[in-house]
Amino acid sequence: MTYQVRRDFVGYGRNTPDPRWPNGARIAVNFVMNYEEGSEPSIADGDGFTETGLTEAHGRNQVANGRDLAAEGMFEYGSRVGFWRLMRLFQERNLPLTVFGCAQALERNPEAAAAIRGSGFDMCSHGWRWIKHWELGEAEEREHIRRAIASFQSTIGTRPEGWYCRYGPSENTRRLLAEAGGFLYDSDYYGEELPFWVTVAGSGHLVVPYSLTHNDTKFAAGVATSEQWFSFVRDGFDMLYEEGATQPKMMSVGLHMRLIGHPARAAGLARLLDHMMARKDVWICRRIDIARHWIATHPYPGRGLNED
Ligand SMILES: [Zn+2]
Repeated sequence: MTYQVRRDFVGYGRNTPDPRWPNGARIAVNFVMNYEEGSEPSIADGDGFTETGLTEAHGRNQVANGRDLAAEGMFEYGSRVGFWRLMRLFQERNLPLTVFGCAQALERNPEAAAAIRGSGFDMCSHGWRWIKHWELGEAEEREHIRRAIASFQSTIGTRPEGWYCRYGPSENTRRLLAEAGGFLYDSDYYGEELPFWVTVAGSGHLVVPYSLTHNDTKFAAGVATSEQWFSFVRDGFDMLYEEGATQPKMMSVGLHMRLIGHPARAAGLARLLDHMMARKDVWICRRIDIARHWIATHPYPGRGLNED
């Protein structure tokens, strides 16, 4: 199987396709809860260091000689506390959610896995572990993908139909996903605002691009208060909503349990949800719904976006 990641600076350009969202929606909004806690690098799992990413420990230069118990606890807050708060905010509004799930993390919290199973939310694989896929050799990455699929079968009861690596894929990831089979899409791209097709080994492969801009990781990059985050993401939504009157849009909003799951930040998420719900012609949906809609209404045309 062959696939070469090529650079494309043109994309859809000026004339974006009409997504023809259900009920004439101007915008499809997909919220993503990243479930990573329990699969991050840790001394106990033999990684040789304690991960601090997207916690209050990050950037404090507390280089622990051995386990960083503070950072471990900040991760555990995500699955113990933040998870349930985010579930509540969506479920009490009857809103859907997509879970980017790291397989090993879900194995370590059966109660959370059961709650997801019973929620109707869709699962997208976030890898076997919350690690950097571009550091894996090909055989090792193939094994991670295999384990990620098998693990979901036992924790969630179904295999994942979507894939998203931590931060970025390797050059092999997309080809290995096609080789594994059963994936409707991946989200390992940031350079477009609508789904698009690429050709992998002669077949169509759908990319549903993701965003690190409309994301609570902004709290680890200068945004300090729930109000700042709310107004930042609300401005993005309002601009897309306005443009969506003539060119309908898609918006992904990324969330992390150990980050926006804290009450002082979750308040901004609650305001954002209420702001969106007060608008007409907004399709708040799962990621799998976007992928299935695109496959049904914009089937693979025999070549990928901007391929010769
Ligand atoms: Zn993530």
